[in-house]
Amino acid sequence: MAESPRRRCSVTRWAVWAQPTRVIAVLGVVEMLALILIGVAWVQFQPTFEAVVLAVLLAAAGIVHTEVATGVERARRQVGEKSYTDLSTVWTFAAALLLPPALATATIVAVYTHLWFRVWKPARYPLFRNTFTATTVLLAALAAQEVVRVTGGTDTWANGLAGVAALSAATFAYAAVNWLLIALAVAVSTPDATRENLFGQLDEIAVELATLCLAAMLALTLTVSWWFVLLVFIPILVLQRAVLYRELAAAATTDGKTGLLTATAWNARAVEAIDRARRERSTLAVLVLDLDHFKRVNDTHGHVAGDRVLAAVADAVRAEVRGDDLVGRFGGEEFVVLLPGLPEARATAELQAVAERIRVRVTHLAVPVETPDGPLTISDLSISVGGTMVPHTPGTTVEQTIALADRELYRAKDSGRNAVRIATATEIPTQRAEEPRPAPQPEVSPES
Ligand code: GH3
Ligand code: MG
Ligand code: MG
Repeated sequence: MAESPRRRCSVTRWAVWAQPTRVIAVLGVVEMLALILIGVAWVQFQPTFEAVVLAVLLAAAGIVHTEVATGVERARRQVGEKSYTDLSTVWTFAAALLLPPALATATIVAVYTHLWFRVWKPARYPLFRNTFTATTVLLAALAAQEVVRVTGGTDTWANGLAGVAALSAATFAYAAVNWLLIALAVAVSTPDATRENLFGQLDEIAVELATLCLAAMLALTLTVSWWFVLLVFIPILVLQRAVLYRELAAAATTDGKTGLLTATAWNARAVEAIDRARRERSTLAVLVLDLDHFKRVNDTHGHVAGDRVLAAVADAVRAEVRGDDLVGRFGGEEFVVLLPGLPEARATAELQAVAERIRVRVTHLAVPVETPDGPLTISDLSISVGGTMVPHTPGTTVEQTIALADRELYRAKDSGRNAVRIATATEIPTQRAEEPRPAPQPEVSPES
């Protein structure tokens, strides 16, 4: 999606035209709706000096905030491409709560135009994404304003619980419109998007809520004195650093090509899972998967196409396991899956069934790729899978377990590939061995 710096900026070359028609249609409809509502707001606008000054103040605060946090925000754009957490909400939502619609929209446009030039454009974000994000914010702001108007305006906020309820309702309207529009855009551009893709992870939502609460408190305090704008800077900048830290931590444990856990991150979690399974006497299983003749894919279609295939296979593996199974990229074209809590009585059969589902799904993959000779679809893929239950023997290590599964994987390869082999109970060393009894203490007889 990144554009070449030499690309001429002409309308026909906008990155948005490379999107599927349904995406362009949804973006177009949402943006037209926003334009109409902004037009109506400006037609009905009756400016007051005080409102104009407050709009300038909030836009200026948003711009100063972006300037102070430019480094952090650019780093966020580079590591967390999929993150939608947007801390300028603190200014745009406060504007929505306090200003007439025309001035609120002007403030939002000012903040987002500045953000585009200082953060998103240098991070090579396509303009259409920035425009759509700003549009969702505009529509969310208009929805929140409607709630403020219906609930009796800013004066009601001083009325104890009724005021809290009114402000909360406006916050909810803003969040709901924003999240739903973004989820709509993600859903049309990624048809098999998960709930997390649509709405973000729980901690992302928590940060959004924290920002909205801060914005609501800012709006409340601005009704007392505009100087309170200064107090918001420290919490918002600290929050921003916390978000960057979280995104960096997530990036460090995620494999860039496939979105799976890195081998190191998988290993660390596998160690914990083995300990937990032994303590709780629950089942734990491991699969090791290796694409068949993957070198041929690279040799025939190039490494870029090979990378697309790796990503598609990773998605296929993830789609066939449960949410709490851990999928990692072990090495080049090798994957590992840790499956806790398979049903005790038929764990091995269940493991075999999961592995078989993955194997079949990979054989049905059709991966569209760009090659130097033009676009084509790679199919006829296959994968070999080895698996084992993790022994409960004290001292069992991740390495020993992987070695057991690896032996099965090589059996699958030797049997002609595109196959699953699972270790039988007799091949797994001392399954369900008892924890060692504490060594008997030597009896110490009192010295006579
Ligand atoms: P087998 O069926 O025996 O597993 O054959 P294979 O060709 O899959 O196995 P081999 O180990 O000979 O080759 C693995 C290939 O995976 C070689 C390497 O070029 C490729 N590979 C490893 N990592 C990456 C990667 O990140 N991207 C791409 N495109 N290819 C990779
Ligand atoms: Mg290999
Ligand atoms: Mg291979």
